Amino acid sequence: MRMYDIIHKKREGYELSDEEITYFVEGFTKGEIPDYQASALCMAVFFRGMTVRETVTLTDRMARSGDCVDLSRFGDLTADKHSTGGVGDKTTLLVAPIVASLGGKVAKISGRGLGHTGGTVDKLESIPGFRTSISAEEFMSQVERVGLAVIGPTGNLTPADKKLYALRDVTATVEAIPLITSSIMSKKLAAGSKNIVLDVKVGSGAFMKTPAQARELAESMVGIGKSCGRNVNAVLTNMNVPLGRAVGNSLEVAEAAEVLRTAKECDLLQVSRTLASHMVALVAGITPEEAEIRVRDTVISGAAYRKMREWISAQGGDVSYIDDASLFPKTAYAVPFVSAADGYILSMNAELIGDASVVLGAGRASKSDVIDHAAGIILERKTGDEVKRGDVIMTLYTNRENAEESALEYCRKAVAIGSEKPESEPLIYEVIR
Ligand code: URA
Repeated sequence: MRMYDIIHKKREGYELSDEEITYFVEGFTKGEIPDYQASALCMAVFFRGMTVRETVTLTDRMARSGDCVDLSRFGDLTADKHSTGGVGDKTTLLVAPIVASLGGKVAKISGRGLGHTGGTVDKLESIPGFRTSISAEEFMSQVERVGLAVIGPTGNLTPADKKLYALRDVTATVEAIPLITSSIMSKKLAAGSKNIVLDVKVGSGAFMKTPAQARELAESMVGIGKSCGRNVNAVLTNMNVPLGRAVGNSLEVAEAAEVLRTAKECDLLQVSRTLASHMVALVAGITPEEAEIRVRDTVISGAAYRKMREWISAQGGDVSYIDDASLFPKTAYAVPFVSAADGYILSMNAELIGDASVVLGAGRASKSDVIDHAAGIILERKTGDEVKRGDVIMTLYTNRENAEESALEYCRKAVAIGSEKPESEPLIYEVIR
């Protein structure tokens, strides 16, 4: 078999065989197929697409390109979630303990933030003592005992995706549905859970800018996950504005803990409840409506919050920070971003607010950047709120002396003020099952 012929066949729009896809994934992972040929194939897939069978085979071979986590000892109780990435998206911090408090086993491998989107691992590491790197035995025994564990990227999971994603990133081939599907779903398959809920973000802070694009990706991922033997649902959620009020690591942990402790109604709780309900429905074999009743009860009764404390403590985190967020270190500077006019907030571009948080030190512009866990943004007002000139819309927290002007510039671009109150947008667009 020759890589040249595989590229040529896809370029002409033909369907690749399982053997050809296997040859490509294995050869590329081992370094036997050079980057330039892999990029040419990705570009051909970008223009020609892939059939469902091709995408299933690609996903399966990528999942098997490295280690796979074996969660079979937990039977069908395992549940995982994945977000396609957003700003202020701290739902894992709520959803994982909610599901574990209802008997699900959440054995989760999460990522770090890059660019304008944050990552769960960075958020958890803002809690003093929290260990995101633990041995495989400790991980399993914690899932058994506590019902959940969340760790950072580990071992040799999906090396094919690591290499291919890095290549797609620099060859303008990220936005191809079969390639995104195989990238995300191969990682979920290798992580081992039987039940998977995908949070597909839609809007200015998301990868998918419109509900139609998000639906296409969601349908593809759900279909491929099912073909590979997993129970998969996808929830399309709004990312036109950051989720919740906090953007930045310890600020987000504090918000997640407060929302779970107080059960105060807000967008963050609503999205978290919906995701958790779909995970519980899959685990328990009940309808999402029945699951939602259980989810509401576990939040209101405080059981989910107690599970959050138990989890953080099991991974070495100091729970006094969860109970009392005022213990988290403060930044040297707190800069108000004020409204320049009277009116209503028409929009708050989530990507630009994410960019502002990176300038303040809360995120990484490149992989080697060091994060400042205390830095970030609190949204004092959100889209649809009425403001007067001079009212504080956001407070920017930073330890960087020279970040203020550039971060404020992003905020000015992000926020639009007008005289008419905008129509409110749905938080949850739809569920793909
Ligand atoms: N996230 C991933 O993990 N892979 C993609 O291809 C796109 C987003």
